[in-house]
Amino acid sequence: MGSVRAVSGKRAVTSEEAAEQVVLASHVMGSLGDDLTLGHVSVRHSNDICMSIKRKGISGSEVTVEDVIEVRLDEVDCLDQPRMHLEAIIHTEIYRERPDVGAVIHGHPLYATALSATEAKVEFLTHDSVLFKDGIGMYKDSADMVTTEKQGKAVARSLGTCRATLLKNHGVVLVGEDIRYAVLAAVTLERALQIQTVANSLGVLSPLSDDQVRDIYPRKYKDSFLDEYWAWWARQFDQVK
Ligand SMILES: [Zn+2]
Repeated sequence: MGSVRAVSGKRAVTSEEAAEQVVLASHVMGSLGDDLTLGHVSVRHSNDICMSIKRKGISGSEVTVEDVIEVRLDEVDCLDQPRMHLEAIIHTEIYRERPDVGAVIHGHPLYATALSATEAKVEFLTHDSVLFKDGIGMYKDSADMVTTEKQGKAVARSLGTCRATLLKNHGVVLVGEDIRYAVLAAVTLERALQIQTVANSLGVLSPLSDDQVRDIYPRKYKDSFLDEYWAWWARQFDQVK
């Protein structure tokens, strides 16, 4: 494995920090049962100009800092590189559309991908679901891979102001203010959907009220808690000495 020093999950200032964030986030995604060979994690640097993204050809669990590519978002042909994922356009178009987004993850994890093949929606059953209080988007234009600028823009638009958008019959895209929030969204959406699947088999669903969702969100998703989640993931994947 590559570098093993502690790195903050807040917006990266240096290329080294950004690369280490991509490494850790890729490893967490690998642990979700999504091998991420055809999935990808990226972060936008604090300068708002650069993006660092996992290269194609390896699984999330294998990623080291040497497998992270840095590009400039202000260069039109920034994705024209041999090791770049075909669907990296998802990332650049979301960063261009959503200035508030500091990290993007695209993958095909089991539960979110299954949801993308249904008309069902995420129910507000537990605190996990509350993270998605603004809803979840759905890109329906095509079930094929997202490889063109037009498709990338459509995915970005389908996201709206949400933390996640489903790619119909394909997978999911998750975003966050920084990599901490994007990884939390990935982990939490899978868990919320697992809980919903189990709850559905147990009986009639009894969701939270809109008032409860509104009240729980600010107490549950404080910025300081995100540091604790990120630190746990770092310990779990041996990136903190
Ligand atoms: Zn895909």
